[in-house]
Amino acid sequence: MADPYGWVDNALATIHRAHWHRAVQPLDGLPGPVMTGQGQPLVNFASNDYLGLAGDPRLRAAAIAALQQYGTGSTGSRLLSGHRPLHQQLEQALADLKGTEAALVFSSGYLANIGTITALVGQRDLILSDQYNHASLINGAKLSGATVLNYRHCDPQHLQEQLTQHRTQYRRCLILTDSVFSMDGDLCPLPEILALADDFEAMVLVDEAHGTGVLGATGAGGVEQLGCRGRPLVQMGTLSKALGSLGGYVAGSATLIDLLRNRASSWIYTTALTPAATAAACQAIAIVQAEPERRDRLRAHQQTLAQGLDKVLADPSPQSPLERRLASASPILCIEVKAEVKAAGKNAAMVMALKRRLMAQGLLLSAVRPPTVPISRLRITLMATHTSEHLDQLLGALGEIVAGR
Ligand SMILES: *Cc1c(COP(=O)(O)O)cnc(C)c1O
Repeated sequence: MADPYGWVDNALATIHRAHWHRAVQPLDGLPGPVMTGQGQPLVNFASNDYLGLAGDPRLRAAAIAALQQYGTGSTGSRLLSGHRPLHQQLEQALADLKGTEAALVFSSGYLANIGTITALVGQRDLILSDQYNHASLINGAKLSGATVLNYRHCDPQHLQEQLTQHRTQYRRCLILTDSVFSMDGDLCPLPEILALADDFEAMVLVDEAHGTGVLGATGAGGVEQLGCRGRPLVQMGTLSKALGSLGGYVAGSATLIDLLRNRASSWIYTTALTPAATAAACQAIAIVQAEPERRDRLRAHQQTLAQGLDKVLADPSPQSPLERRLASASPILCIEVKAEVKAAGKNAAMVMALKRRLMAQGLLLSAVRPPTVPISRLRITLMATHTSEHLDQLLGALGEIVAGR
């Protein structure tokens, strides 16, 4: 008899051969711009904690107070025994931040996307999805049973062509897009997408995972920054990035939220957010609204680093393994490895070697490889709590690499 699990070894060997193997690596200490890895201080350019709130004493105090008052677990789903006044308070705070009638919190952003998409569309419906959308949007779309068509990244013209060609053959239509694309850092053309949605009677779900707290005058996100507040929209996001906690949310009309409470399986059949995570997110929203200077600092860092990278990359040596900075409008900045290195495996090996080299110099960056992205890249995320010395250190190290040293 053959071992029914024998294929696992073969599958892993294939992953290793392609240099696509992924493994975890512990970081120690409070979340912040400098953490400890392998006993060494590492300047952290790999975190989604854009505003530096995950280690903030006020969030920690709020979480501890909630834990003392309500315990460690919420003990049930929201519809059964899991609903606390804290959840209501957080949902109100999210709706206020977003300028919507209502909001609903999920146990993660991933679950928010899965539950919302499957509640809104089914087999008779059409989903149009940006080709670079986050995996949770892609998987929610698949799970819904709707027909899914990708449109070219940030290309409203291609979206329009697909709507013209296909819309009438389906009952409902849902357009899916990240507001900030997580592996590129660019922004979706939301005003153009909303105009098309009006013309073709389509719903729009915008994923604000990387926009919430970061973009817009009040930190409401990309929707605010792009002047689309108040438009009919399904806005989702996460509590786990700039808000420094854990969980996801959807904000929209009161009827949309009521429907989700009745239809979103990943909300109905899962345990409510813990009291500690809920209270921490509430505190984070208050800070987002009260301390716009964190966003200003983040934007200043973003400009400094983008300009610095462009200078470093302006005149690369022929040996430089790094080539191109991707266009970005967020604190996510990416540099692709040389495109001449066609073989995806070699490409991935190269980006991993760069990551190790930078780590040996005390710098933590993300190396992103296929299948997450088409061409391997170094991904830098900035925090409001970085210092200009941190940025100088990074630019110095990247300068050496680009000079072929
Ligand atoms: C991180 C992320 C999610 C998932 O959010 P979690 O709360 O971490 O599950 C969804 N969409 C995008 C674009 C993300 O970057």
